[in-house]
Amino acid sequence: MSSTRVIAVANQKGGVAKTTTVASLGTALAELGQRVLLVDLDPQACLTFSLGIDPEDLELSIHHVLTKGLPPSEVMVTTEDGVDLLPATIELARAEADLLTRTGREYVVRTVVEDLDGEYDWVLLDCPPSLGVLTVAALTAARGVVIPLQCETLSHRGVGQLLDTVHDVRRFTNRDLEVWGVLPTLYDGRTNHARAVLDTISETYDLEVLEPPIPKSIRFAEAPAAGRTILSTSRTNKGATAYRDVAANLLRRG
Ligand code: ADP
Ligand code: MG
Repeated sequence: MSSTRVIAVANQKGGVAKTTTVASLGTALAELGQRVLLVDLDPQACLTFSLGIDPEDLELSIHHVLTKGLPPSEVMVTTEDGVDLLPATIELARAEADLLTRTGREYVVRTVVEDLDGEYDWVLLDCPPSLGVLTVAALTAARGVVIPLQCETLSHRGVGQLLDTVHDVRRFTNRDLEVWGVLPTLYDGRTNHARAVLDTISETYDLEVLEPPIPKSIRFAEAPAAGRTILSTSRTNKGATAYRDVAANLLRRG
């Protein structure tokens, strides 16, 4: 069995820092000497863009790997942040529809990851903001799920639905899937409110809370335009430090 740890970063809500988390944790794990592959499973291709690759320049992408059986090595790119990437383009939007009628669609990501056997210590899957075919395929490929969560009053509304999907995946396509926990993002530690929301969510759904929370920082908004993650562009930023600490904790756990 491969010792690669495959983590799906999922939440069907947009804007909760899934992509930022994948890029930052990936970079942090690479800094710790881990071999890391990131997979962009969102047709918006924000992860690809934020790592300095313009999706418009790509002729081949993860779409061709998932729907046409192209070997991942043909679309793999190395990034300046020390991680490898299977990039996405807007073409991936068609994959949902293309895969819908295909036998084994839940397994398309898993097959890719299994074929990489042993090459990476970590594979982080950046899920799209939906619970569609691509997210289910990511959950089917993963050993663990990390759920980034912005601690606002209504942020828990989608969590139950996501956990229902995780439950179905565990039942039908991936018995070994575990929820590693929720990661508080865009966290404003100055308010008691954020902590209260977090406590409510973790109690209601019996979920572990990954530490430390990722604070809000304006630097995150600037990073994607630079084509590098915040860990590379502002080394001592408190958000970067928080992601490094989460990565070290994941490493201990994995
Ligand atoms: P998702 O992938 O869940 O849609 P993103 O990672 O794209 O979310 O983040 C959504 C927006 O929030 C982006 O503009 C990103 O730069 C910003 N962002 C992410 N994390 C933080 C943070 N800790 N502080 C401030 N802004 C953040
Ligand atoms: Mg995203």
